[in-house]
Amino acid sequence: MREGRERETFNHLSFAQILMVKKCPDGNPYHVIAELQEPLGDGRVRCLACPRKCVIPPGMYGVCKTKLNVNGTLCEVNYGKVSSIAMDPIEKKPFFHFMPGTYAYSIGTVGCNLFCDHCQNWMISQSNPETFPYLRDLQPDVAVKEAVELGASSIAFTYNEPTIVSMEWVVEAARIAKRHGIATLSVTNGYWSEEARERLIPLIDAANVDVKAFTDNFYRKVTKTPFLKPVLDTVMALKRAGKHVEVTYLIIPTLNDEPEEIRAFSRWIVDEVGDDTPVHFSRFYPHFRMKHLPPTPIETVERAIKIARSEGVKYVYSGNVPGDPNENTYCPSCGALLIKRYGFAIEKCNLTEDNKCPSCGESIPIVGKCKESREWLSFI
Ligand code: SF4
Ligand SMILES: [Zn+2]
Repeated sequence: MREGRERETFNHLSFAQILMVKKCPDGNPYHVIAELQEPLGDGRVRCLACPRKCVIPPGMYGVCKTKLNVNGTLCEVNYGKVSSIAMDPIEKKPFFHFMPGTYAYSIGTVGCNLFCDHCQNWMISQSNPETFPYLRDLQPDVAVKEAVELGASSIAFTYNEPTIVSMEWVVEAARIAKRHGIATLSVTNGYWSEEARERLIPLIDAANVDVKAFTDNFYRKVTKTPFLKPVLDTVMALKRAGKHVEVTYLIIPTLNDEPEEIRAFSRWIVDEVGDDTPVHFSRFYPHFRMKHLPPTPIETVERAIKIARSEGVKYVYSGNVPGDPNENTYCPSCGALLIKRYGFAIEKCNLTEDNKCPSCGESIPIVGKCKESREWLSFI
C-alpha cells in the first residue's frame, strides 16, 4: 500500500520535475533540492531562504526543521505534504482591497521560520513536517486544478509560512496558477531574505504581511528572531515591485499596544509604504504560550485606528471584531460608505464601475471588482 502510494507520488514528482523541482539525492519522494543554498565546501551548507541564514552540518536540519543537509546538499523535506486546505473568503486572509467577495483556495503546510508565543496555528507551524501525522499528498498541479474546479479566484499560501518553509512547492504552484489565470497570495510574516524576495516577489500578486510589532524587543522576545527590519524590508520590496500589499498588526495587551508604538508604525506606513495601504488592526485572543494575557479590549483597537487615521493612513480596519463599523471601507475624501462588511461577508458594494466613490469621484485603490457575498465561512 505504502509502496504504491510512494510510486504514485514519485510519478507526479517526475512530471513536476520537468517544470522545475529537482529530486533530493536521498531519493525520498517528498524531498527536493532547495534552490536557495550556499555550499560551504566542508560538507556544511548555508540556507539562504530567510534572514536566519542557518549553517547546517550534514544530516542536520535548519531551525525551521524543513531544510535538511543531505551529504552537502540542502533539501526541502515537505514537497507535496499539505496540512490544511480550505476555500476561504479572501476577506478572511485578510485582503479587503484585492478581489473583494471572492474565494481563495488556501493552503498550509507544516513548519515556520518564526516561533511566536501567541501563534494561533501553532499545531502546524511549530511541528516537524517529517513526523506530523495529518498530511495530505498534494502536488502543485493538483492543487491548482482543484482551485480552478472549486471556483477560486486565487490561491493563498497561508496558515504557517509556506512561502519560506515550502518554497519549492509554492514556486511551482504559483507558476502553474499564473498559467491558469489564478491570482497568487502570500499571507506571511515577511521574514524573508533578500534572495527569497528576489525569487518570490515576481510570482506573488498580493501579500498580507504581519507586522507583529514595531520594536526589535518584541520580535526578540515573542517571535525568537532578533530584528524587525527584514519584515519591513519585505513590505517595502513588495510595494516597490508594484504588488498589492496589505498589512496586519495584531494588538497584544501590554506587548505592542502603546500609543507611541502604534504612531511610529502608522508613520512608517505613510512615509515608506503609502497612505493608501490597507492596515488591519486585529484583536488578540489568548493562544498557545500566551494564554495568560486577556483578549485585546475593543477600545484599544479603536484607539489604534484613531491614531493611524490621525497620522494619515487612509484605509484602517479592525480585525476579529465582527459587526464593528471599522470593518467597512469609507471614502477617505467624503466619508461615504463604500463597502459594508460583516465579518468576512460583503453586504454591500457601493463603488462605480471603475472603483470610484459614487459621491465624490475619489479613486479607491481596489484590485478587481467588489462582489457582494453572504458566505462568511470557509469550506471544503
Ligand atoms: S528557512 Fe529555515 S533553515 Fe533556512 S535559514 Fe530560515 S530557519 Fe534556517
Ligand atoms: Zn467620496
